[in-house]
Amino acid sequence: MKEALIFDLSRKGRRGIRFGSPDVPSKPVQQMIPQKHLRSEPADLPELPESEVVRHFIRLSNLNYHVDKNMYPLGSCTMKYNPKINDYTSGLQGFTSMHPLQPEKTAQGCLRLMYELSEMLCEIAGMAAATLQPAAGAHGELTGILLIKKYHESLGSKRNKLLVVDSAHGTNPASAAIANYEIVSINSNAEGRTDIEDLRQKLTPDVAALMLTNPNTLGLFEKDILAIEKLVHENGSLMYMDGANMNALTGITRPGDMGFDIVHYNLHKTFSAPHGGGGPGSGPVGVCDKLVPFLPVPVIEKTGESNNARYTMNMNRPESIGRMMNFYGNFGVLVRAYTYIRMLGAEGMQSISENAIINANYLLSRLLKTFDLPYPKPVMHEFCLSGDRQKKQHNVRTLDIAKRLLDYGFHAPTIYFPLIVSEALMVEPTETETRETLDAFADALLAIADEAENNPELLLNAPGQTPVQRLDEAQASRQLNVCCFGC
Ligand SMILES: *Cc1c(COP(=O)(O)O)cnc(C)c1O
Repeated sequence: MKEALIFDLSRKGRRGIRFGSPDVPSKPVQQMIPQKHLRSEPADLPELPESEVVRHFIRLSNLNYHVDKNMYPLGSCTMKYNPKINDYTSGLQGFTSMHPLQPEKTAQGCLRLMYELSEMLCEIAGMAAATLQPAAGAHGELTGILLIKKYHESLGSKRNKLLVVDSAHGTNPASAAIANYEIVSINSNAEGRTDIEDLRQKLTPDVAALMLTNPNTLGLFEKDILAIEKLVHENGSLMYMDGANMNALTGITRPGDMGFDIVHYNLHKTFSAPHGGGGPGSGPVGVCDKLVPFLPVPVIEKTGESNNARYTMNMNRPESIGRMMNFYGNFGVLVRAYTYIRMLGAEGMQSISENAIINANYLLSRLLKTFDLPYPKPVMHEFCLSGDRQKKQHNVRTLDIAKRLLDYGFHAPTIYFPLIVSEALMVEPTETETRETLDAFADALLAIADEAENNPELLLNAPGQTPVQRLDEAQASRQLNVCCFGC
């Protein structure tokens, strides 16, 4: 399973490409480039035929797990397959050779794409306007919270608290803290949903907003959302929706219709852009009418219709919170999301959610007898099991189950999140997996539960089939060894 460095594969004199002699007059390089910039010895570059270069990199890519290899059941992350056409369109020369400071009149196509993407996102979530600037979901949260702050300031009111439910993603309280809010945690009830009594008690006049994820991180729809909305708005507070789980809602229901004032989208989740190597992501934010004046600048505006339509970037917005990003957001990701929505259309948007929900419920039904489900079903697009039974009976932890899954050729689900579930094992299959893939994943988990009973050592020592075995994960992310494989 080891792969040598490309330098070690090199053999002197091997060539991938040979250039013919130029058929235009040329001077020796020594006459064109000043002596002091020239090398005294040739660079020590690897020498290999093209076939060996390609094979080397394909072998390297196989050492890694990726969404083109197999299913990625990471709960909350919506790791769906990324259609290749998205990469084709985002690589079109008309996009890639744009300069961000080009005059508006030469960038009409790009501006139109951004304008139309905002409109489509607003339609999907029932919002009045959107900004495409934020670089990720967490950055969208910060943007939304700054909008909340500005809104209350514009009314002359000072509210310094944000309510966050205890099942929330860690970015919610983190974003609130960055914006200088005091965070008040709301309990979940026995059903795994917002405890309305607890909310009622903590909803004091200094609360700026409630941050809610719907469906929540347990994959459960907040059935009492309209009652919650009424309470929060009667208190003069705003409703923020963490839209990372929009994959369960598109084409079925809309945050705006549930009374949310702000929502962030994760284009790298719901809208099929890759979560590649730490980025880039994109976390647009949609808002209701009364928050539109505060949106970040520039705001893209349209005048005229069809062939006469012109798109401009308006910087003159006196109430704006300012810029959240240099230039306009991660444009390549916007092109991918635009392509995805356009390819699927309105019907396709609905089938995303329907298939995501049925896939999650199918998978859950296959695992239900073997693993504990701490909060009652039915679920939406994901579910959260607990490895408590396996821990109590066989002394293996969820971490061991996750590691053993790697030996079966699957990425592990999200584990130990949300924090309110002990030994959490959180699975989100997404709509892009076939029944056969879901069955293979369920079979692997069931086989591992069997091993936990009969041969727990296999789990405790897993993984055994991967290029590297069990890492000290905290140290691995602090002391990167990127110089070469296995050194
Ligand atoms: C992914 C996620 C976030 C944060 O989004 P990033 O794009 O990773 O910053 C926030 N909330 C929930 C529920 C998420 O799943």
